[in-house]
Amino acid sequence: MKLILLGPPGAGKGTQAKYITEKYSIPQISTGDILRQAIKEQSEMGKRAKSYMDSGSLVPDEIVIGIINERMAQGDCKDGYILDGFPRTLAQAEALSDSLQAYGGDIDFVIDLKVDPDQLVARLTGRRVCRDCGQMFHVEYNPSKMMGQCDKCGGPLYQRDDDMPETILKRFEVYNQQAKALEAYYSKTGRYKSVDASGSLEDVRSAVLEILDS
Ligand SMILES: [Zn+2]
Repeated sequence: MKLILLGPPGAGKGTQAKYITEKYSIPQISTGDILRQAIKEQSEMGKRAKSYMDSGSLVPDEIVIGIINERMAQGDCKDGYILDGFPRTLAQAEALSDSLQAYGGDIDFVIDLKVDPDQLVARLTGRRVCRDCGQMFHVEYNPSKMMGQCDKCGGPLYQRDDDMPETILKRFEVYNQQAKALEAYYSKTGRYKSVDASGSLEDVRSAVLEILDS
């Protein structure tokens, strides 16, 4: 099963991806993680990516695709995978399709987790991060035992600038413009499924699994 998981930051992609990886025994390919990994392992594509990052430029799509291809060629991907955080743009989606076709495969489902902006603000403004160890908490869903203090290391908790309402809405606006293009592109393939991700994690999980089992 080959999946693409779409959705804005705060839609719960990570949690749903975890459910899916467990149920179907397929790995989650998170672009940020594999980019860091490729650079660490000094793979061919990793070295090329690093030269762009060292000069402060964005890593070009062809190199990101190259790194994803390197990752998809590994043994644990033989039964499929979940792509998380890629593609972000129409150009990336087209490049990915070309690359998959070259390898004789295609994506089975594109799952788009939809949440309205007001709810994202409510979810994300509650996040708190430990300044010392990076552990995440949520004032409502996952509070620390002592207010303002990390359970793991006792460090001070703070709210990231990224999690302020104006920033969240701005980021959502940027995300949404690209997401519309991806929705139009994948709708044509008949593999696009949108899921209302405003409900509980369990409700969203059931909706996602229903699609994957169909
Ligand atoms: Zn901590």
